[in-house]
Amino acid sequence: MLHNKTVEDLLDIKEIYLEPEVRNYKRGEEILAKYPEANLIEVPSHWKIPELHGNQGSIEDWTKIKRNVLVLGIKKSLSCRANTRSSHWVAPSQSNGCTMSCSYCYVPRRKGFANPISVFVNIDQICNYLRRHAAKQGELKAPDHIDDQYWVYEIGENGDCSADAAICDNVKDMMNLFKEIPNAKLTFATKFVNREMLTYDPQLKTRIRFSLMPHKMSKLVDVRTSPISHRIDIINDFVDAGYEVNVNFSPVIFYEGWIDDWQILFDEINDKLNEKSKKQLIAEIIFLTHNQQLHEVNMGWHPKAEEVLWRPELQEVKYSQTGGRNVRYKRGFKGDLVETLVDMVHEQLPYCPIRYAF
Ligand code: SF4
Repeated sequence: MLHNKTVEDLLDIKEIYLEPEVRNYKRGEEILAKYPEANLIEVPSHWKIPELHGNQGSIEDWTKIKRNVLVLGIKKSLSCRANTRSSHWVAPSQSNGCTMSCSYCYVPRRKGFANPISVFVNIDQICNYLRRHAAKQGELKAPDHIDDQYWVYEIGENGDCSADAAICDNVKDMMNLFKEIPNAKLTFATKFVNREMLTYDPQLKTRIRFSLMPHKMSKLVDVRTSPISHRIDIINDFVDAGYEVNVNFSPVIFYEGWIDDWQILFDEINDKLNEKSKKQLIAEIIFLTHNQQLHEVNMGWHPKAEEVLWRPELQEVKYSQTGGRNVRYKRGFKGDLVETLVDMVHEQLPYCPIRYAF
């Protein structure tokens, strides 16, 4: 599988699908000026581009689309959704889709399979909405498992913000916004190391969560992402650059020998993180969920990964709120797995509290 190290490996924009009104926005103009050679294709809506989103073909086609195509649109309805685990609120997204191709990713479950980055150019409206939303909340009433002090807004639910930041300043603008908002911070999880973000100076108002899993498994299922050791290597630098850095152990995948591989990962974290990073570290643990339709598509391009992701003898069906047929590890079995990994974190990373594990 491909493991990319730089933005250039990941993105080489040659075609831009855009809603025509995009040209009326400063961010739209900036992005179009950044890629002057790109072929521009006007579309009525960023949601309906059958030649991109309906493509269930081969991984080669997807990779090409994810690397060479960008979609520009305008986020029409702005709202925040209440959340309970990593954040209090899910912010209106400044993008969706992703240039990476993790086998288990739920992002293509929503918008189609070859789902390149779609950037929303009305970032000023999104930021103004967030400013007003945060102002209405007042102070966080009491410390909770999400934060001691601030309301936390998730901005990366539908993609990977570190990759988005390689295209334009939407993520940087949101980070600057939250520096000014007195009662809130933002957060996103990432699988990509974008060193440019070390210059953003978030002043502890951005919590970046590096997703980690054992190297061996990541090589199989985290397609086109930064290698796990690169993500761990950069943590001290991000902490020094003014980020709060947490780790997201996800998805946790069961297989023969999984415990030994997690031990290797924890040893690497212990060896590489300095005291300052360890002191502020918090972990989140999420076990794998999978989806029947995604499994069937994956069988066409990456069946090897499905040998570990799709284990009907160990999994049970769980219908999602949108009616999708998802699977997760069977209840009692999963309880044991969660307990095992939680115990390991407590023992191996004693400085690292767990925000949640499920
Ligand atoms: S990096 Fe995140 S959003 Fe992108 S494909 Fe992987 S899991 Fe999905």
